This record gives sequence, structure tokens and C-alpha cells, in this order.
Amino acid sequence: MLLMDYLDYFKEVQGKRVHDHFEAKKMINDSVKSVWMPGPIVVGAGPSGLAAAACLTERGVPSLIIERADCIASLWQRKTYDRLRLHLPKQFCELPLMHFPPNFPTYPTKQQFIAYLEAYAQCFNLNPVFNTTVVSAEFDNGGGFWRVRTVEVGLIKEETVYACPWLIVATGENAEEVVPRIEGLSEFDGPVVHTSLYKTGEAFAGKRVLVVGCGNSGMEVCLDLCNYNAQPSLVVRDSVHVLPQEMLGRSTFGLSMWLLKWFPMRLVDNFLLLMSCLMLGDTAQLGLTRPKLGPLELKSISGKTPVLDIGTLEKIRKGHIKVCKGIKRLTRQSVVEFVDGRIQNFDAIILATGYKSNVPTWLKETNFFSEKDGFPRKPFPHGWKGEDGLYAVGFTKRGLLVTFHRGASEPVIASLKL
Ligand SMILES: Cc1cc2nc3c(=O)[nH]c(=O)nc-3n(C[C@H](O)[C@H](O)[C@H](O)COP(=O)(O)OP(=O)(O)OC[C@H]3O[C@@H](n4cnc5c(N)ncnc54)[C@H](O)[C@@H]3O)c2cc1C
Repeated sequence: MLLMDYLDYFKEVQGKRVHDHFEAKKMINDSVKSVWMPGPIVVGAGPSGLAAAACLTERGVPSLIIERADCIASLWQRKTYDRLRLHLPKQFCELPLMHFPPNFPTYPTKQQFIAYLEAYAQCFNLNPVFNTTVVSAEFDNGGGFWRVRTVEVGLIKEETVYACPWLIVATGENAEEVVPRIEGLSEFDGPVVHTSLYKTGEAFAGKRVLVVGCGNSGMEVCLDLCNYNAQPSLVVRDSVHVLPQEMLGRSTFGLSMWLLKWFPMRLVDNFLLLMSCLMLGDTAQLGLTRPKLGPLELKSISGKTPVLDIGTLEKIRKGHIKVCKGIKRLTRQSVVEFVDGRIQNFDAIILATGYKSNVPTWLKETNFFSEKDGFPRKPFPHGWKGEDGLYAVGFTKRGLLVTFHRGASEPVIASLKL
């Protein structure tokens, strides 16, 4: 159905609803507002939501972005540490239709990335509805539209029910913090914080800090803690691929992408591992054993991102960062017991244990999105379009690059047939 048909349709439905006694009563008693949105609703004003809305704007299709936070790109503005830079070179993190300013460095700072996103939103006149959480969305089979219920966070909880023909899910792979179950965690005497609340190591100067999780965030937080004279220990439970951020004068990521054009993935993986061994040495000797699968193959199968080293390995080698086995349990007086039987005191714990999708908590649909992990069931590049006008942007497990350049945004627009 095309946009104009929907406009007529919604006008008609709205007319009927006004005369519906129950609906009218509901609107007064519960102060639930009803809004008819003739275009797509985009849930989430992160880079994915902004990009999808900008592409739609370019095609003359108005959309409505609904965002639970009070700003765009809330993951970047509210939940990241101060020293963060893009992990990947800038050319792999641009949104469609607008380049980064030419004076940006290869790895823009988080402040530069946020400034770029702000300029992007302004350029395409994107004005999300802020402080509004989508609490449920379900397709009305009879009416043929999506019913999207939102709650505005404020002094008075205002509820609104939107109806729209298309729903674009852009709530991200990192919507909610993952806090692991560790025996005794709640009894630990010192502070326990997730990396989403960590800004700098300033508050931890001179303290023994246990960082749980050895992904890019955990490794970088350890480095930051060292720079603030804290004594970090890194919990490494699983195997992990650590690669240098750059090889042969090029970014490892860019070089890998280029090599993949010519060679099979296994061969490129072998090359990356050989170069890493030459440049970083045997990471297993530092307590960081490598997975059996190569870094690219592992990423494509499981979504597990290799760590790009920006100096943490050197600190481990010098003994400034200690590597520990998995945690067995925590006890009072800040004592941590590890699976290898070692027992040690810590002043604070930082959980670099990642994030998860929150889609199953609000989307009443399980054919396209899995209720288990909140990702589209079909892997990339097929997981962008569901049924009944449902779309997903930003769930590729491959970062910003694939999301925008080869992934969801363009097909979203193409398939709206507008
Ligand atoms: C520390 C860190 C560094 C990273 N570095 C890079 C990098 O260098 N390169 C790269 O490509 N990727 C990187 N990433 C991955 C990151 O996920 C992407 O950069 C990007 O933020 C994904 O954009 P998104 O819009 O899909 O999701 P998000 O940025 O997470 O945006 C989703 C938005 O949806 C909102 N939302 C969620 N649920 C609801 C709801 N129910 N109702 C309303 N709004 C809702 C959220 O508040 C959020 O603003 C990094 C991630 C982290 C955590």
C-alpha cells in the first residue's frame, strides 16, 4: 500500500475511533493519547535510527523517531568512557549521505563522533521525540497497522499509542547492560560498576581494580586505569583474539576488508595471525589464548569481535595489568576467589561484560526477531526485513560499516516502495 492510501485509511480509522465510546472513554480516564502516523516509526535515535530516517527524508518520506533518552546517540553520549575513540577508521563508520569532516583524524574521538551525529540530525532535520520509551509494539491484523505504545518519562507518566504502517526497529545491539551472575557479587564491599557508567580511572587512583571481561572495552578500561595509577587485574575467562590496530601502515580492519576481496577468509585469517604473532608475540604466554577459529571466521559465525590492541598488551607484559582466570565467587571484605584457587583482595570491580538487545521486552513479534537474543533470526545480510512492514536496522553484528553501506538502510527504503 502506498503512502497516500495509508493517509486516507488512517483518516477513516481516526474518524471511526472518535465515535467509539470505549476508546473515547479510555482517552479521558487513563489520559492515553492516540496518534496516527502515516509514515514509518523508527524506534531508537542512535546512528542506525538516524541513518534510516535520513535516507527516508531524502526520498521525501517523513518518519517519526522515538527515543527513550534525552538525546540522540545516547549510547555514545551517556554510556561510554571519556577516552573512547572509534575503534575502526573513520571511513568505515560514516553514515549514509554525509561524510565526516575532512579534518577528523583516522580514529575520531567520541566527542567528534557525537558532533558529527548532531550535525547529521540537523542536516536532515531529524527531531526525535525524546524521553519516550516504546514499551510495546504489535501488529494489528484486523486494521493492518502497527500499534506502538510509548511511555514518556517525566513528572507525570504520559502514555501514547501510535498507529503506523511501518515499524523500523533501531534499538541497537547494545540496548541493555549485561551483568553476569557471580556468586557473592551483591555482597562485595567495594563499588561494582558496569563500563556503561565508567568515565575515567580518576576515582580509582591507587586502588586494586578487577576488570571483568576482555573485549575492547575491558582492555581499554585497564589501560585507562593504568594511566590513572590504579592497579588493574583483567579477568579472562574465554579465549580471545588480540590483533594490532594497524599492520603494514594500514588499519588491520581496512587491510582485512581489502584482502577479503581477493583471498578466502581462512587465508586472510592465517595472514592476520602470522602478522599478530610477529608484532605482538605469543599472546597465550600473557594468559590470552586464541580461539581455534581465526578472527574473521569467528566474527562471521558468532559475532565475537577481535580486540584491537592500543597498548594494553604492553602493560600486561610489563606487569602493570595482571591477567586472572575466571571468578569462582566473591566473599565479604572484598575478597575474590578465582577458579584456579587463587584468592585476592580488590577495592572495586568494573564489569566490562557487554550489552544485549532489548527487543524481546517490547516487540510482540517472534517470527522475524528471536525472543532468545533479540536479533533477527536470519543472519546478515538477510535480517533486515520482516513481515507486515517490519524492518531492522543495526543488528548485523558487524558494526556501523555493514549496517549502512551494504546492509539495512537502503533496502528499508527500497522495500517501502515510496
Ligand atoms: C564502547 C563502544 C565502542 C564502539 N565502537 C565502535 C566503533 O568504533 N565502530 C563501530 O562500527 N561500532 C562501534 N560500537 C558499536 C555500536 O553499537 C555502534 O557504534 C552504534 O552505536 C550502533 O548504533 P545503533 O543506532 O544501532 O544502536 P545504539 O547506538 O545503541 O542506539 C539505539 C538507541 O535506541 C534507544 N532505545 C533502545 N530501546 C528503546 C526503546 N524501547 N524505546 C525507545 N528508544 C530505545 C537507545 O536509547 C539508543 O539511543 C561501539 C560500541 C561500544 C559500546
